[in-house]
Amino acid sequence: MKKTSRNPAKAANFFKKKIFYVIVAASMLVIATTVTLSLTLTKPRVVPPDPPVTVEPVTMRNPINEFEVQKGFANDKLLWCTTLKLWETHLGIDLAAPNGTQVFAVLDGTVDSVTNSALDGVVIVISHAENVKTVYKSLGEDTLVIAGQTVKRGDAIGFVSDTMITEVKQAPHLHFEVIVSGTYVDPAAHLVDLIEK
Ligand SMILES: [Zn+2]
Repeated sequence: MKKTSRNPAKAANFFKKKIFYVIVAASMLVIATTVTLSLTLTKPRVVPPDPPVTVEPVTMRNPINEFEVQKGFANDKLLWCTTLKLWETHLGIDLAAPNGTQVFAVLDGTVDSVTNSALDGVVIVISHAENVKTVYKSLGEDTLVIAGQTVKRGDAIGFVSDTMITEVKQAPHLHFEVIVSGTYVDPAAHLVDLIEK
């Protein structure tokens, strides 16, 4: 009896000792895992750099070689429209030049569209890098590009005319617009001869 009652005690004692080692081994495993994980997770990751912030406006070639600014850009004030006889905003710049004067792409790009509308006349829209679009209105029907065509800065795209009915009472001119990320901006801030220095 004594022998049998001593054995479980011994076994329990042995088990207790074993538990101690098991706990120590488990703790070491946990520590090792934590250290490994933290080393793996805190490894410096390759973070792509932020896209460069455009501070300076894109400088564009003039769409016409020789011109007079006939009417400026006005998105927050009203300008008198001699044709429509009313005050209105003017989301482009009017560059006066004789009928038939060549009009050039101001930057490299792709022609979005060439259209002929009742109010704006013949219009070319070109897409450029950095979410910039340029719009050329009041062109003659003898355009030199088609939609989808790639153009280089300085390529001739069409000719000045007076097809823009809403501005027809002004002398022949190009109505030129610049749209950056969907917002009309003052083209004078982008055209090489008009940028305020
Ligand atoms: Zn205009």
